[in-house]
Amino acid sequence: MKRESKAVHWGDRRRISGSFTPVTTPIYTATSYSYDSMETLDRVLGREIEGPSYTRYGNPTIDALEELIRELEGGAFCAACSSGMAALHLALLGALLDRPRRVLCADAIYGSTANMLMTILGPIGVETSFVDICDLAAVEAAVQESKPGVILMETISNPLLRVGEMDKIAAIAREAGAVLVVDSTFATPLLLRPLELAAGIVIHSATKYLAGHGDVLGGAVISSAEHADTLRSLAHTLGPVMSPFECYLTMRGMKTLAVRVERQCANACKVASWLSAQPRVERVYFTGDPSHPDFTTIARLFPKNQTGAMVSFELKDASREEVFHFMDKLQMVVRGTSLGDVQTLASHPAISSHRELTPKHRERLGIRDNLIRLSIGIEAAEDIIDDLRQALG
Ligand SMILES: *Cc1c(COP(=O)(O)O)cnc(C)c1O
Repeated sequence: MKRESKAVHWGDRRRISGSFTPVTTPIYTATSYSYDSMETLDRVLGREIEGPSYTRYGNPTIDALEELIRELEGGAFCAACSSGMAALHLALLGALLDRPRRVLCADAIYGSTANMLMTILGPIGVETSFVDICDLAAVEAAVQESKPGVILMETISNPLLRVGEMDKIAAIAREAGAVLVVDSTFATPLLLRPLELAAGIVIHSATKYLAGHGDVLGGAVISSAEHADTLRSLAHTLGPVMSPFECYLTMRGMKTLAVRVERQCANACKVASWLSAQPRVERVYFTGDPSHPDFTTIARLFPKNQTGAMVSFELKDASREEVFHFMDKLQMVVRGTSLGDVQTLASHPAISSHRELTPKHRERLGIRDNLIRLSIGIEAAEDIIDDLRQALG
């Protein structure tokens, strides 16, 4: 073989001899996969035998991450997606494909999610109505009235951390022939598994807790067997795939998910109880707080003392400028709009996640200018508290 040819072919496509196996999944960058014979490739493409063919349909690195997330969520299917929003889009299309094009959505919902429903799915014929997902009677009435194809909720809402009765909402959805789609980003599969509570489809922004290190944009859709074929064929056609490099990083991050979340939840308890005792703090929102409005639901659905690691709070009588001043004084806690990372992050919902809403709409949702949201990290709780103390001081 001439050098020119060798430069193209050498080194690639060497079989793993069987004498060793990589301990962690390597990053497969190849977009297509060749087989000894066309007959084998034909059987792979026909899904008679398992194997990669073309990366939009999966590859060994992507498959490994999907298997991991699917297993953690207890699902029958998983698609790793390029972002949480790509995952949500796939989930909604999959659920609405052969159902009434109507979505009943929790009114406390991620800003971009509301945006997708109103400005993208709306104009192509999907009607959305909103409901207080923590008011079961209101959910039932809204289902009767709008006969939705999908009910959409978050396990823990952002930024006021409300928790709906997911198992009961799943039953209402089933009764009405609708699919319950759950954005479970804030809960991770460790705290609560929506499919076990009879939700149909779960999505995650893997950007947050799953990857956990602030260096990956990704998402995942997980479903019960009922939706697997539809979602798979949609994913293969639309191509919202996560790149193998991001899959590798997510998988690497997920190896420590359990220790991170355990530590983050424990830290969040300490930070929330410290904040509650501060005279400058008007109110603390935390899922582990016994006076939380959804405390009985949380106690029923979440493991004890592991109810999430997000803590929101309001500064007493503080203007936006005073809140900014407090946030500017933070030294270790990072000002950032994401969450779920190893670092503690502070964000101001009114200018970030809920920026697109009118002040009146924000007021209706209870998101005021004096509200700060913390995503608690894995640092020593004392250091997080010290930083908050000096910034409050
Ligand atoms: C961040 C986030 C999303 C969007 O995920 P991306 O990875 O940014 O596309 C969706 N839902 C929730 C609850 C989020 O926090």
